Amino acid sequence: MNSPDALVFGGGPAGVAAACELAAAGCSVLLVHQDGALGGPVHRHEGDGGASPRVAPSRRWRRLAAEMDGLGGRITVRLRTAFVGLDGEGKFLVRDMARNAVSVLRAPRAVFALGAVEQVPPVPGWQLPGVMMAGGLQLLVKGGVPLPAKRVVLAGSGPLLLALAAQMARAGHSPVAVLEAGRPFRVHPAGLGLLEGPEYLWEALRYQAILRACGVPYRMGARVVSVDGAPGALDVAFRAGADPTIQHLDAGLVALHDGLAPNDHGLPRAGLHASGVRIQYAGDCREVLGGRAAIAGGRLAALALLSEMGRTAPDAAGRAAKWERILSRHRRIQRAVTSLFATEWPAPATWPDHLVLCRCENRTVGDLRAVLDPRVPSPKEIKLVGRFCMGECQGRLCERSVRRFLGDREGVPYPAKSLVGERWPVRPTPITAFLDDAGAEGAASSVPPT
Ligand SMILES: Cc1cc2nc3c(=O)[nH]c(=O)nc-3n(C[C@H](O)[C@H](O)[C@H](O)COP(=O)(O)OP(=O)(O)OC[C@H]3O[C@@H](n4cnc5c(N)ncnc54)[C@H](O)[C@@H]3O)c2cc1C
Repeated sequence: MNSPDALVFGGGPAGVAAACELAAAGCSVLLVHQDGALGGPVHRHEGDGGASPRVAPSRRWRRLAAEMDGLGGRITVRLRTAFVGLDGEGKFLVRDMARNAVSVLRAPRAVFALGAVEQVPPVPGWQLPGVMMAGGLQLLVKGGVPLPAKRVVLAGSGPLLLALAAQMARAGHSPVAVLEAGRPFRVHPAGLGLLEGPEYLWEALRYQAILRACGVPYRMGARVVSVDGAPGALDVAFRAGADPTIQHLDAGLVALHDGLAPNDHGLPRAGLHASGVRIQYAGDCREVLGGRAAIAGGRLAALALLSEMGRTAPDAAGRAAKWERILSRHRRIQRAVTSLFATEWPAPATWPDHLVLCRCENRTVGDLRAVLDPRVPSPKEIKLVGRFCMGECQGRLCERSVRRFLGDREGVPYPAKSLVGERWPVRPTPITAFLDDAGAEGAASSVPPT
């Protein structure tokens, strides 16, 4: 497929739904996905290097996969290939992860459905070996990979910690404890918002019941203060509620989590790109609303592109209204979930100098304070002189903390996107990957979605 009508980047529910919608309207679509199987963190279930062979595909995913199968080959899938950039001439650069080769794709329109990135609470010790992110641990658990340590502590905040703890307990490897900084199960008016999404409420109660049955303490209002030690022998210090006493837990492995944010770092903006390419975002990459909403979001993104092409089906307005209603409902549910998990992390002014902000380049709060003395420099100086948001992850992990720190110091929120604007490549890519294959049109392969 030399130049499809549309490119879709990201093969989770949002990307697959967008591809189906475009293909159903007669467009040729190239779906580019970085993993070895479609599905994203929730639905990926087989053939992905053992990612989640134990997990059967959900009904929702099976329906989507069947829809894709029924589209007569108008969707071509390219796996193990990542989007790395869109240049000013409308060339999409993609990197074949196995061959380490960048090639060029062209299309007049694209949907970015790259999902979400995990956030981590910036606590002293989060950069140590033996401390990982909850999403990474979930991948191991779902894949049935033996964990490197017996005693695992989950800490931070958010529904993923609860889900992961229940998944671990069901897999026979219960965590020692979940230290949840928020108080999601307290009586709070925001809880009423969950009545709109009873499926979430039941899911949460089911997870809690599993934890109770397996004797896993789910400690609400417990805030991790620091992690210290070496892999296999970590000390997790935490405070519970208003009690100033510091308590300790021994752990072999610690998994931290503090919610999800759109994975939109460095991406070209939605709308009409300078090169003339039309761009839409979909799913968690646009707004973190979960898997159910991601399908609606993918279909809406595709409808927007089809409308710009003048290919509006007679029933498009009605279907768009239905998906907008689904998104609005999930927005209200997510607001309720966010309020229930609301957490006060220590104010940036109290962060110790030794606290690491950028794990990639080992840059600390002290380093940031030094760059700020005596004035707050431009975002460029913070990056070039301070080397924040400049490492391997390109700010995906530290940007939020750096902005929080700067905003707190200035007394006004530090502008979003100022430290990680639009750019390509969107992630570090070896120069050899460009040299070997630059300008080549990579071969596309049709792969069944499940
Ligand atoms: C670590 C993690 C764990 C989660 N666990 C749960 C859970 O237990 N339960 C739950 O209900 N929800 C969970 N979620 C949320 C859930 O995954 C999403 O809400 C839902 O899948 C959103 O669908 P999506 O299609 O927007 O994105 P995703 O399903 O995330 O799909 C996006 C895909 O794009 C791929 N991608 C990213 N960058 C590129 C690139 N540059 N080029 C090509 N492909 C790329 C990613 O590998 C990913 O597979 C989790 C999210 C994360 C990040």
